[in-house]
Amino acid sequence: MSRRDSILREMGLGAQWKLRDNPAADEAPLAVSPAPSFLGDSAPPRPTPTLAAAEGRGAAIATMEWDALRAAVAGCDACMLCQERKQAVLGVGDVNADWLFVGEGPGAEEDERGEPFVGQAGKLLDAMLAAIDLRRGEDVYIANAVKCRPPGNRTPEAEEAAACWPYLERQIELIRPKLIVALGKPAAQTLLQAEVKVGASRGRLFDYKGIPLIVTYHPAYLLRSLADKAKAWEDLCFMRRTMRELKEKA
Ligand code: SF4
Repeated sequence: MSRRDSILREMGLGAQWKLRDNPAADEAPLAVSPAPSFLGDSAPPRPTPTLAAAEGRGAAIATMEWDALRAAVAGCDACMLCQERKQAVLGVGDVNADWLFVGEGPGAEEDERGEPFVGQAGKLLDAMLAAIDLRRGEDVYIANAVKCRPPGNRTPEAEEAAACWPYLERQIELIRPKLIVALGKPAAQTLLQAEVKVGASRGRLFDYKGIPLIVTYHPAYLLRSLADKAKAWEDLCFMRRTMRELKEKA
């Protein structure tokens, strides 16, 4: 069995994997609408800090180096997600990485262990990384849109994602990756501050403050959706090709 076949098998693609003749065939025009309703408008009203306080907090986070950022996240109570977490999960990996992968938020195992993408979704992410010759921690940094576990693994609410955003924004500034990969809709919407449909956004290059950004499915979603799992390989090939081109241009 070839290395690619064994990695695809590990990803659960096995015999189902088949490269589409026309990867762009399902690309539809991207629906983009302005924030703030980017994560839905069904969130119940919550007490929010004053604008001045939020701006002050954001400005302070924007100057933090890694140690201060880690301490700030560990003690953060800026949104309701602090109430049920065991620990906040800042991220893991090479702080000088070319690759930044951003997921949604910690799950139960991540909350327990303090590291993003452990458990089944983490194993699949590791297999996806291996498929393009990457390893967790080596030129790769992995973070989430929110740093504390949403109860019941629900999608973070708009206010929670907004409260946590300064941390991810600062992480990106400190890492300055060559390429950002948004894993799933909440991560994509948080980074792009717009409504995003993952299926329609795959295979496209977005821009985050001058850094190319690619949208693909979240590994936890891929575990449940065999049909979309087959598309992950195309996205990985697109990522690898994009990185190669970025390095050639540099
Ligand atoms: S999710 Fe983010 S903003 Fe909310 S308490 Fe945790 S670290 Fe703070």
